[in-house]
Formats: sequence, C-alpha cells, structure tokens
Amino acid sequence: MHTTHDIKNLLDIQDPNITFSDACVEIKQDRGKVCKFISATLTYTPTHCAVCGMKNEHFSVIKNGTQTSRITLPLTGMHRTFLLLKKQRFFCKRCSCTFVARSSIVDRHCFISNQTKARVTMKATERNPSR
Ligand SMILES: [Zn+2]
Repeated sequence: MHTTHDIKNLLDIQDPNITFSDACVEIKQDRGKVCKFISATLTYTPTHCAVCGMKNEHFSVIKNGTQTSRITLPLTGMHRTFLLLKKQRFFCKRCSCTFVARSSIVDRHCFISNQTKARVTMKATERNPSR
C-alpha cells in the first residue's frame, strides 16, 4: 500500500486502478544502456463492454489475461525510465470480443513521451548550428 502511494506521488499518477507492488523498480540493460523499469498493474471491473456497450451484468464481462505496454516516463535522472503497465484484458460473453483496460495516464504519458521525442530532436538540431 505504501509503495503504491509513494510511487504514484513520484510519478504523478492519480488513477486509482493502477497499483505498484513492492520491489517494482528494476534496473537492467536495454540495448546496451542501463534503464529503470517500473512495473505497475492496471485493473478494474468494467461497468460496460467497451466494444458492444452492453452493461456488465451477471459476469457477462470476464477477466481474460493481460497485455503489457512500455511507456517512456519523463523522469530526470541518470537512466531512462520506463513504466511497464500490465493492463487487464476483458472478454465480453455477449459479443465475444476482447478489450483492454484503459487509463487516462497512458494517453497523458504517450503525449509526454512525444514531448520527450521532440526534445531529443531539438537537441540534435542544436548540435548542428545553422550557418
Ligand atoms: Zn460486448
């Protein structure tokens, strides 16, 4: 519980459906560079099917595995930091479709991730002064 609270404050994540376990920060090599990986889980009970829109009644929408996304975090520090978000997958018995748990933070961090890319481009430009 404490871990989730502290890390959420650190990463500025407010989504109550995202939890962090103890020892969720791992430092390992990624393509020859040392990176930090923070693991989190996103899960909840959906009120409706995201595909057909039918209400989740009598367990019509069930949990069906997970899907992990790697999101670049805009943390400053020695190493690049990624959030490994394990997202709950759901299966709707009514329409026989699967869908993945959603979180506003994922979109937000994708946006920040794009900002990070823009910054890298700007830095690369700075190295080549215009004549
Ligand atoms: Zn459905």
